[in-house]
Amino acid sequence: MSYQIGFPRKWRTYGFKLDGKTWAANALAANAAERSRDLAKIGKPVDKDDWGMTVPTVNAYYDPQLNGMVFPAGILQPPFYSVDASVAVNMGGMGVVVGHELTHGFDDQGAQYDAVGNLTNWWQPDTEKQFKTRTQCVVDQYSAYPIADGGKVNGANTVGENIADIGGVKLALTGYRALRSSAPDTIVADGFTEDQQFFLGFGQAWCAKVRPELEKLMVASDPHSPAQWRVNGALQATPEFAKVWGCKAGSKMAPAKQCVVW
Ligand SMILES: [Zn+2]
Repeated sequence: MSYQIGFPRKWRTYGFKLDGKTWAANALAANAAERSRDLAKIGKPVDKDDWGMTVPTVNAYYDPQLNGMVFPAGILQPPFYSVDASVAVNMGGMGVVVGHELTHGFDDQGAQYDAVGNLTNWWQPDTEKQFKTRTQCVVDQYSAYPIADGGKVNGANTVGENIADIGGVKLALTGYRALRSSAPDTIVADGFTEDQQFFLGFGQAWCAKVRPELEKLMVASDPHSPAQWRVNGALQATPEFAKVWGCKAGSKMAPAKQCVVW
């Protein structure tokens, strides 16, 4: 799996003119230029340095057809990443984002592509069966989460993102512990241990306030779960969370049944 961070190896040039008079004329000119740029790709080898996001975008993505991840410079700032933040907080924020995109390569959709990006079934039948059973566990877990208008999260529509969130926390936690394994002292900040800071960093990265109407619209159309469930859902599937915060077995954040896909 390849990865690109910050900005593309090759900068794009924009060979079209905006007339500067009306918004509509500018939008049409930009659309025409983008369309001809896309059409010009036909018959040519895939350009792996052509990004699907702009550099200042606060987001990241995994492309199954390239088997590659992209992290634009825009996301490399608080609350996801800061040079002044502790390793634990950065790994809870940006570390989980990296783990999330990596896990997309092996979610319900990414798993259908092989290492070079072709839509090929490369699974052993037994493993595939296990994978589907475990995926269904995540569908059921998130389908039970309520939203503000009295409805529920759509566990089937969001399963790929939820697998990526659960896997992202697991990978980032493993990475953070490896990075800090030889640290002489662990840093307690505001009374929180490093392990606790990791989970606080994760929660703060997804802090959001959304009106019930928008939440309802998003549940109908967004492949991501609402922010509250992106955090609590992933952590309910993370046994280390309950250990670090002392949640009793069987309590809300330490449920008896925990989904493990990866
Ligand atoms: Zn995602």
